[in-house]
Amino acid sequence: MEQTLQQGIDINQVLSKRPLIISGPCSAETEEQVLQTALQLAATGKVDILRAGIWKPRTRPGSFEGIGTKGLPWLQQARKASGLPVAIEVATGKQVEDALHFDVDVLWVGARTTVNPFSVQEVADALKGVDVPVLIKNPINPDLELWIGAAERIAKAGIKNIGLIHRGFSSYGNTEYRNAPMWHLAIEMKRRFPEMLMINDPSHICGRRDILQEVAQKAIDLDFDGLIIESHIDPDNAWSDAKQQITPEVLGNMISAMIWRKEDIVSEELHANMEKMRSQINQLDDELLQLLGQRMKVADKIGAYKKDNDITILQTSRWNAILEKAFVKGGQMGLSQEFITKYFDAVHMESINHQNKIMNQ
Ligand code: PEP
Ligand code: MN
Repeated sequence: MEQTLQQGIDINQVLSKRPLIISGPCSAETEEQVLQTALQLAATGKVDILRAGIWKPRTRPGSFEGIGTKGLPWLQQARKASGLPVAIEVATGKQVEDALHFDVDVLWVGARTTVNPFSVQEVADALKGVDVPVLIKNPINPDLELWIGAAERIAKAGIKNIGLIHRGFSSYGNTEYRNAPMWHLAIEMKRRFPEMLMINDPSHICGRRDILQEVAQKAIDLDFDGLIIESHIDPDNAWSDAKQQITPEVLGNMISAMIWRKEDIVSEELHANMEKMRSQINQLDDELLQLLGQRMKVADKIGAYKKDNDITILQTSRWNAILEKAFVKGGQMGLSQEFITKYFDAVHMESINHQNKIMNQ
């Protein structure tokens, strides 16, 4: 109670707002920067919670690793001046204690912490007997079990209000994104934990400004509950993650320009039209499954034939030819190369497994 109703802020009520918008600098840098960012964000009228990193887990040493405990009173002051509740990342028991001491309203577990059960457990132990909402970022590697495990550890400590943050997954080599979104993993988490708050972090997914809005819109169209977006009064000169931060003003405009679609289908007519299209989709899915079943029966036959004639399951040239043909045909049907690759990989693996079983019978 003491934690939830600090200074007239009912944090659980704030967290239940949809869409929930969290914004603020990657890192707290100076007292003035924190205060000005908070005031400018509050002035947009679009932001519900102020975020700031106090301790920064940087991938490489030598970059700014956070201002530390010294920044906590700045946040306390910004909270008071702007009326915005504040959220920070914690990675150790001591950081939890310090954050709570300075009235931080929401804690989040960072992506580099979620991967480490020892660290998550330490955070969880420090949370015993405390009533504070905790958001858990996905681990940097695409492992749902780690993400779930972190949520379970925090829940076991007695924390009731737990939410999830989808910030993408790191991979070797440069892609369009700083962290690959792998939307299907966030969708799977939503499917398994439909009651849990799920917000998207386009800043860390994109790593750059120009595609922030389209990623944020995609998340909202996938029925995410909200967004956490980094903002800074002078983004180009930010001490961390400069390339992805935007000013509070740009953030306000971005939120205003977004289209907020609804998940529920209310009118009868809408419902009937949707049902018609959905039954077409169901019918086609049935047919696809039947065809795939037939395809695998042929694979079984080929497997038996290869076995009798001592031929390997895989002939790479044949596999290349199938893919090439599928790219062309798929392209004509409006299917992306990425989808064709994934689909054919899955079908091919299933076919190999069928043949493998037959061969080793
Ligand atoms: C952050 O939010 O600034 C941060 C460090 O994020 P992540 O844990 O997603 O890398
Ligand atoms: Mn950051």
